[in-house]
Amino acid sequence: MEQPATRSALEVSDLVKDYPLAKGWHRAVAGVSFTIEEGHFYSLLGPSGCGKTTTLRCVAGLERPDGGRIVLGGVTVADAGSSVPPEKRDIGMVFQSYAIWPHMTVIENVAFPLRVGSTKVSRADITRRVGDALDLVQLGSYASRPATQLSGGQQQRLALARALVRRPRLLLLDEPLSNLDAKLRDRMRAEIRDLQRSLGITTLYVTHDQVEALSMSNRIAVMEDGLIVQEGTPREIYSHPTSRFVANFVGAANFLPATVSGPGAGAGRMLLRVGDGTIEASVPAGVVAGDAVTLSIRPEAVRFHTSAPGGPNVLAGEVEQALFLGDAIDLRVTVAAGSVAVRLPSAIETSRGDRVWLELDAAEGGDPSAAGPASPA
Ligand code: ADP
Ligand code: MG
Repeated sequence: MEQPATRSALEVSDLVKDYPLAKGWHRAVAGVSFTIEEGHFYSLLGPSGCGKTTTLRCVAGLERPDGGRIVLGGVTVADAGSSVPPEKRDIGMVFQSYAIWPHMTVIENVAFPLRVGSTKVSRADITRRVGDALDLVQLGSYASRPATQLSGGQQQRLALARALVRRPRLLLLDEPLSNLDAKLRDRMRAEIRDLQRSLGITTLYVTHDQVEALSMSNRIAVMEDGLIVQEGTPREIYSHPTSRFVANFVGAANFLPATVSGPGAGAGRMLLRVGDGTIEASVPAGVVAGDAVTLSIRPEAVRFHTSAPGGPNVLAGEVEQALFLGDAIDLRVTVAAGSVAVRLPSAIETSRGDRVWLELDAAEGGDPSAAGPASPA
């Protein structure tokens, strides 16, 4: 028998999944590896079609991988030779469509997994556990309603209660908020995260929404074309994107062409020549002096000056456009290397034609990242 090697809740290694096409195959997941620690909230973030749902379905046991290995709580549930069926994986899942049963009441929906589960649960236990699950999502007073007579947010909570009623070891959520309007989505985001924390349940969350991933996750894996292209904490992903794709997908970013001129002060940092200025930025491993890279700058990570601040990390430019938004002001500033969008507090007064200096300062929490190597604009 295999011994649990680590305390990780889930380990996915080199996962591959091919779908048959009319002619040949489509590789939906092309070698994905990640590990989720016990109790963590972990997100797969990426555009539509990048392989998020397929990865989740492999973890749930709804798809059989064509390669790799899935280890759940130290037990291998899928590898080259074997696959444990979904109902034996101790997983709760919420689908994008909720998939609640319309012909059942709220209480019947939540009780269903206990009724059909492989372990026999007594009637008294079913009543108690369904009651607990409904209380968790604040649906206790709706127990006897037909499921179809719930609002979108309530159906979402019902799907969550049904996924949690067996107290699974792992919760899988596939774009659970995408069918809700913006306001409700904001609220459910906080509700799901509070619930996840209070239960301490390890959660794998799939989304194409960067705000969801950034605000809820302990760690994020950004996916593109069936691969994880960057993995880290929300702050790492946002502040140190290692590619133009990630910088662009996870929040707004400016891109300026740059050339690496020499080593910077800290580890992983280099001096970049950017137009007529020099900027110190963090760079991906392997970047050396002379390389052409793309500097990415977050619009809110810029300090604004109306006279030259006389220090490093400054780009001189001219205001091309100023849009007053009430709580902020959006500027477009032309610098020697290109154009930079900047977001400033609205107290700052400036207008088109002003000569300005943009200071990029790690201390402001907006460390400029060189998302190299350079790609043609
Ligand atoms: P995501 O959830 O990130 O939007 P999916 O995992 O659903 O992406 O899909 C990944 C790729 O696999 C897409 O190109 C999609 O069209 C394809 N795909 C998904 N499911 C199937 C299927 N059952 N048969 C064939 N191709 C599929
Ligand atoms: Mg999907």
